Amino acid sequence: MARFADVVLPVPLPGLFTYALPDDMQTHVQAGCRVVVPFGNKKTTTALVVRLHDTEPHDITLKEVISQVDAVPIVLDEQLSLWQWIADFYMCAIGEVYKAALPAPLKKGKKGAVAYEGVEPLPDEISFTPAPISSLGGGALSPAQQTALEAIHAVWHERPVCLLHGVTSSGKTEIYIHLIAEALRQGRQVLYLLPEIVLTTQLTDRLRAVFGERLGVYHSKYSDRQRIDVWRRQLTDEAYDIIVGVRSSVFLPFKRLGLVIVDEEHDTSFKQQDPAPRYNARNVAIMLATRLKAQCLLGTATPSLESYYNARMGKYGLVTLSERYGQVKLPQVEVIDIQEMRHKRLMEGQFSSRLLEVMSATLQEHRQVILFQNRRGFSPQIECHNCGWVPRCPHCDVALTLHKRLQRMTCHYCGYATAVPQVCPACEERELRQIGFGTERIEDDIHRHFPEARVARMDLDTTRTRNAYEGILHDFATGQTDILVGTQMVTKGLDFDNVSLVAILSADTMLNQPDFRAYEHAFQMMSQVAGRAGRRDKQGLVLLQARNAELPIIGQVVSNDYEAMYSEQMLERRQFAFPPFVRLIIMYIKHRSSTTADMLARDATMMLRQAFGTRVLGPDEPPVARVQSLFIRRILLKFELDIPLTAARQAMHDVRSRLLEQKDYASAHIYFDVDPM
Ligand code: ADP
Ligand code: ZN
Ligand code: ZN
Repeated sequence: MARFADVVLPVPLPGLFTYALPDDMQTHVQAGCRVVVPFGNKKTTTALVVRLHDTEPHDITLKEVISQVDAVPIVLDEQLSLWQWIADFYMCAIGEVYKAALPAPLKKGKKGAVAYEGVEPLPDEISFTPAPISSLGGGALSPAQQTALEAIHAVWHERPVCLLHGVTSSGKTEIYIHLIAEALRQGRQVLYLLPEIVLTTQLTDRLRAVFGERLGVYHSKYSDRQRIDVWRRQLTDEAYDIIVGVRSSVFLPFKRLGLVIVDEEHDTSFKQQDPAPRYNARNVAIMLATRLKAQCLLGTATPSLESYYNARMGKYGLVTLSERYGQVKLPQVEVIDIQEMRHKRLMEGQFSSRLLEVMSATLQEHRQVILFQNRRGFSPQIECHNCGWVPRCPHCDVALTLHKRLQRMTCHYCGYATAVPQVCPACEERELRQIGFGTERIEDDIHRHFPEARVARMDLDTTRTRNAYEGILHDFATGQTDILVGTQMVTKGLDFDNVSLVAILSADTMLNQPDFRAYEHAFQMMSQVAGRAGRRDKQGLVLLQARNAELPIIGQVVSNDYEAMYSEQMLERRQFAFPPFVRLIIMYIKHRSSTTADMLARDATMMLRQAFGTRVLGPDEPPVARVQSLFIRRILLKFELDIPLTAARQAMHDVRSRLLEQKDYASAHIYFDVDPM
């Protein structure tokens, strides 16, 4: 019997909220159940009960819980405490974590009467006869894989986290399958995290073949209904033994978690940008595993500098696989100097004549080609030939991208779209030049060069639905397409038999990013996409076109020399005090007026300097300094790794509250991004 409930509301306000429990609910409500409560003016919302107690709050306006939604808890204690950790660490409200964690209809609940949703029967489609545990496990491992597997176990004897650094196609997935089977034999569950939805299809097929219906999939392209089914099921005795999912699956309930695999751990998609919580699912996964006494494996061919550093420092164990499975050689990488080719008139658009030759030969051999271009749309920009006018987004500080098939100019920041201009509104010139190459334009050019070839494109525009990307992958895997053009989506973990040529059309767009991680990310993307070539029999070929062919990073990709990239980048990180040598926190300030944004940024900087001195840098503007009509300013804070941040976080929250209390700044958005990407 408790008279009061502390609840989480799905709002960006700090802390918990206390409500009184009506008499008839006092014996029924438990922590982890949802309740309907009054909130704001005449509104109600579904809240999550975190604590029950009898301590009368001082608040005289104390309101009563209206109704109970769940008869039994739908969120476990361990989840609640993990969510609290996320809120503390990533400097947001626990209400924001709650919002991100629960699939939408679970959040809404039903108004009025108690709906015993927690015990609703499961749909038929997920009933199954489990595969016999003894038969689980993939094929026999190669000696190198076996050695790695044993080394991973040895690491786990001493520490919970192991980094598996295995070159592309070294058979990491096969090792995961063995580890999963082991966990299942011990009656434990497995969470398998992937950075990208695209990857779940291939992986799920592969795991289903071994583990059958013991596998559940969880990601945002599934309907809320499907996700709720998974969530509910994880609370029952029939919980899936394996969950494959993208970042939000770290929020699921697990009652007997034994293993967490973070595949492609370096991938930046693990970090949520907007909205809060701006969490890194890899780091949350490590925290989840540690808390539930599960083992954790981070796998990748190109570790993030952070993880590799942690492994070097002994925080994680490190296991290396340096050869491909089945003696297949790593692809040969050939650099094509775009400047030189242009000079010799050997470039047609983004295609060097060498690339066209090799493509033609590859198609003749009935082998497949992957072309990587890190931009979607047709042209990133169009420009008036006469006066230089460029159509720009009215809401954001960026040029609009031409999407030729849609006959639209669109903003990649806010989604604004408008008709393609036929004349320049400034000077009435009719010739508007298309500047730059997106995937759509590359696709057009391929059709011109190879009219016979069957081409597919994989980018954000062609993969809006689950069926769409599954279709593209299926057609490519079954040889119904010859050439796959795509953005970074094609760089990640895909496993195709028959790809012998991969081309990186322009390395430069990746290298010219104003970001201290640009080189690291470029190396990872290029090595990953290169790794799609020649995964079975014959050695693959990678053509790497670059304008700055002399840069050391190009050489590092050619020789697949991760260590060289690591050492070089770490020198710079140390010299300029960037992660992993410091912890970064960015304070973001957004306002409709640029003057107010500037004033606010100056005031904020001054206040932060009082607390943190020279650790505060800025304010400055991000490369795109206005998005959705809000002007953006940033203040960068750099903290030493060995100082505890609890007090510092509180001081930052205080600065934020003090600023928002000022009348002029009341309508500003101020938030923090911890460990920004
Ligand atoms: P990675 O995950 O390191 O990129 P994969 O696990 O996808 O590598 O392995 C690459 C290819 O080699 C896959 O097609 C896989 O089926 C095959 N392979 C890897 N290990 C084995 C094994 N032990 N027995 C049979 N095939 C294997
Ligand atoms: Zn003009
Ligand atoms: Zn815009």
